[in-house]
Amino acid sequence: MNRVYLDNAATTPMRPEVIDHMVQVMQTEYGNASSTHSFGRSAKTILETARKSIAKIMGCEARELIFTSNATEATNLILTSAVRDLGIQRIITSRMEHHATLYTVAKLVQEQGVEAVYLPANADGTVDVSGLDALLADGKPTLVTLMHVNNETGALLDIEKVGTICRAHQALFHCDTVQSVGKWALPLHDLPVDFAVASAHKFHGPKGVGFAYIAKHVVIKPLIVGGEQEKGLRAGTEAVHQIAGMAKALELDAIDLEHDQNYIACLKDYCWEQLQLAFPGIKTNGEHTFYNILNVTLPMSEEKAAMILFNLDMKGIAVSRGSACQSGSSKPSHVLAQFVAEEDLKRPALRISFSRFNTKADIDALLDALKGI
Ligand code: PLP
Repeated sequence: MNRVYLDNAATTPMRPEVIDHMVQVMQTEYGNASSTHSFGRSAKTILETARKSIAKIMGCEARELIFTSNATEATNLILTSAVRDLGIQRIITSRMEHHATLYTVAKLVQEQGVEAVYLPANADGTVDVSGLDALLADGKPTLVTLMHVNNETGALLDIEKVGTICRAHQALFHCDTVQSVGKWALPLHDLPVDFAVASAHKFHGPKGVGFAYIAKHVVIKPLIVGGEQEKGLRAGTEAVHQIAGMAKALELDAIDLEHDQNYIACLKDYCWEQLQLAFPGIKTNGEHTFYNILNVTLPMSEEKAAMILFNLDMKGIAVSRGSACQSGSSKPSHVLAQFVAEEDLKRPALRISFSRFNTKADIDALLDALKGI
């Protein structure tokens, strides 16, 4: 069976060049980057070269990047430390954030007594930030955490707007940039953000590695202790091969960025056109969304909603749950629940997400499979 992967917001296939590079690093650079002998020094050089390369692409300083196991860890570190070490008393966020943020905020509310304020959603799936300025006007020490690209809908946040409001009130701004790093130019020093996070597996790098961007004017303390790695901010022997692979992936993404953006946007347009032809009455969840994510509600019955992912999977097609009552879950998507009408939440919604490795033939296969359901 010819398998089709259209779930690139969940994770992406690794680029072959990244795998080759990692294999080479694993074979030759097995020293511990903390060791002082030549093996260690050589591993350290790989590590710091990767840091510099990522910093150059991200428009920040190498010392502002902390390597972590993934973005979830990076977000845990940043939010926890902001409350514990920086005197943050209130976190402003939205109910459409990734659980990495939502669960960390809930934990901080429960354990540290921090106040959480949730901004509402607009009808187009974006966060309604119109009340942010007024909220921050009371001067309470606050951190705002909002994602750049929503991983379910592709809804976009105006980073410039939110960050500028935050700066005007001396509030800190953490932006979850997991879905846009490697896919969008994010010159961090030109953006009003204090913290950003990334996971390499979302941009054709390896799983199990990511980074936290912590602007140099912010001083935090570690979550994981036990060593002096990462300037003492994240103890544990660095996964040199993973970090080297992450840098390689980002370097290649940067080279191909414009081409890939255009190519993937065309795939998304084609998919949407074909879906509309095949399923009159189909709706998108979110408007003007990021170029690689398409979230749609199909005009099908509730019964079909329950089995749609399973049926697609049986035909070798991988897409993701977009809303309620699918793949055994009776809970609606916490994101769609914020802005999609109750009636539509019962219908099958799919998140289709594309990468440079997809073709129109993949979309044709998805359409054929959907028509047969
Ligand atoms: N934030 C967003 C927007 C995501 O899409 C994801 C992963 O799905 C994460 C955070 C967490 O990333 P990871 O599971 O790699 O830590």
